[in-house]
Formats: sequence, structure tokens, C-alpha cells
Amino acid sequence: MLLNSAMEMRTSVSLPWREEPRDPYRVWLSEVMLQQTRVAAMLPRYLAFVERFPTLESLAAAPLDEVLALFSGLGYYARARHLHAAAQAAVARGGLPRSSAELSKLPGFGPYTAAAVASLAFGEQVALVDGNVARVLARLLRIPGTAAEVRAQAWEVAPSLLPAGRAGEFNEALMELGATVCKPRAPSCEECPLGPHCQTRDGGDADAFPPPKTAPERPVIVWAAAAVTREDGSVLLRRHPQGELFAGTWGLPFCDAGGGIPRRSARQALEACGIRAPALRSRGEVRQTLTHRELRVALFSGTGHARERDDLRFIAPGKLGSVGLSSLLRKCLRACGIEG
Ligand code: SF4
Repeated sequence: MLLNSAMEMRTSVSLPWREEPRDPYRVWLSEVMLQQTRVAAMLPRYLAFVERFPTLESLAAAPLDEVLALFSGLGYYARARHLHAAAQAAVARGGLPRSSAELSKLPGFGPYTAAAVASLAFGEQVALVDGNVARVLARLLRIPGTAAEVRAQAWEVAPSLLPAGRAGEFNEALMELGATVCKPRAPSCEECPLGPHCQTRDGGDADAFPPPKTAPERPVIVWAAAAVTREDGSVLLRRHPQGELFAGTWGLPFCDAGGGIPRRSARQALEACGIRAPALRSRGEVRQTLTHRELRVALFSGTGHARERDDLRFIAPGKLGSVGLSSLLRKCLRACGIEG
């Protein structure tokens, strides 16, 4: 009964990665690109991505910079790095593995992504829980506790709900229900096919399941950064190394400047790039809110030369689209009057 009710949700939205027969590579790509990103923002990027990299093999063979470029501005760049690394690992073993257990061994595959690809693309009988599914199950079954406790409980209970041989359809239906009907606020219970089975619908307190997360405290990080241009208009960019914010993407040379003098910190950042005592003009402050931090960048600009390296390049504004750029860098470049 629950199955039939939930299935009413399944085919309500037409999305390219849902076309039958399912392409496991595209199912996986869609799951990765949808993490922390809404469908409307993700869809044009997804279409551009599959046009450039139509197959697992083409992604594995691509330079990482090209992959990052297609994620520019979407944030969470570890997704792109893991996607690329996992594609290479999968190609080396002959393709994407078909089970969630084997998928979990690839870079970037957590329990959710592994279960999503295995059930939606390969038909494995495995349950999954994302934020939408956790919310639906919390309300349907009146699961108490914090958001984290509810999610853990949902992972426990979800396998027992799976209909025989139809895990993929069921998983997709529950995700769809959470995204479109059982929304975080004001769920549309009158339209919900699960209404007759729901343990919170009639209590008027469905919104309280799971309880809202408290907003995270975001420590403030202060950087001083400098946009240095050459006579030809190209701008000096440095690739953020592993372990740094925005790792893999290109950004302005910067130094931490918390408690220091920003102009001096910006000079230090440039000296590390081989630029001595540049004249710097202040360009104000640029702010960016990240998941766990608030970033404030004291911004400067100037002109100069530097020897290029693998992680240090002058890039012409017209070529900025060919490398991975964070939305922070775009804001900084705009503040300095540099448009890509
Ligand atoms: S009846 Fe309402 S609260 Fe219950 S699952 Fe459906 S939308 Fe969510």
C-alpha cells in the first residue's frame, strides 16, 4: 500500500538523467551535481557537462582544470575533484561497479551516492536516505530526536520499507515526495499520497519533524588578496593547493590577515609569487559566506610581472572560462574592474 501510494510521485518530473534506459554515468553525475545545489541552478551546468563529457571515459581522460571549469561558481569543488578521480578509478577497473559496496570504494562515494547509483541505475535492492527522505520518514513514522538522530534512524528503518525488486523506483519516489510535497515548511498534506499512512498529518505538527537545525556559528576568516595585471590585461592567478579553501580552483594570491595590516599581508602574498614591493591600490572588501565560515577579503590591485609556474599563471580575461574559478574570485575580479 505504501509502495503504491509513494509511486504516484515517481514520474511527475521529467529530467534528462531519468530517461530510460538509465545511463549509470549520468545518474551518478546528476547526484553529484545536485549535492548542495538546486535543480534549477544545476540543470544548465549538467547539460553543458554531458555535452563536453558525454561518457565516463571522456571524463576520465579530461584535464582536471576543464572539469573544474564546468563547476565554476557552483561551490563545493571537492565534488569535481572526486568526480574526476572516481571516473579514472572506474575506467581503470572497466567501468562503474554495479553494487553500492563496490561503488563506496571510489573517491567521493558516500553511503547516499553509492546507494543512489546502485538502486537507480543498476537496480540493486538498497535503501537510501538524503535530507528529503529523512524528512518524509520522520513525519510519516513520527520519528523523534534531533535532525542527526532522525537521519540515523531513517537509515535504520528505510531498508524495511523497500518493495521487493523496486528499490530504485521507491527511492526516487520518496526523494520526489520530499522535494515537492513534504517540504521543510508547510507540507502539502492535502496533496500527499502518503497522507492516510502518515502519523503527523493530523496532529498539525508535521513541521516539527525533524526539528530545524540551529544555524551554525561561522567563524570569520580575513584574507588580504591582490589582483595583479600585466600590460596585456591578463591577471595573475594562483591555484589553491590541496588542503586550502577552494582547492583545485584558481584564485588571487592571498595571505591570512586576521589582526594584521591588510596591505602588508597582500604584499607578502605577492612576494611569495616573486613580485617585490608592488604599488597597491585598495579595492575595498569582498565577503563570501561559506558553509562553515564567513570569509572577508581585503582586496588590492596593482600591476607587475612574475615568473609563471604550474600553480601560478597570468590568464587573459577572455580565457577565464577555461579554468575552475570560485564565485569569490569572480566577485574579487569584478571589484577590480576585471570582467571575464
Ligand atoms: S501527509 Fe504531510 S507530513 Fe505526512 S508525509 Fe505527506 S506531506 Fe509529509
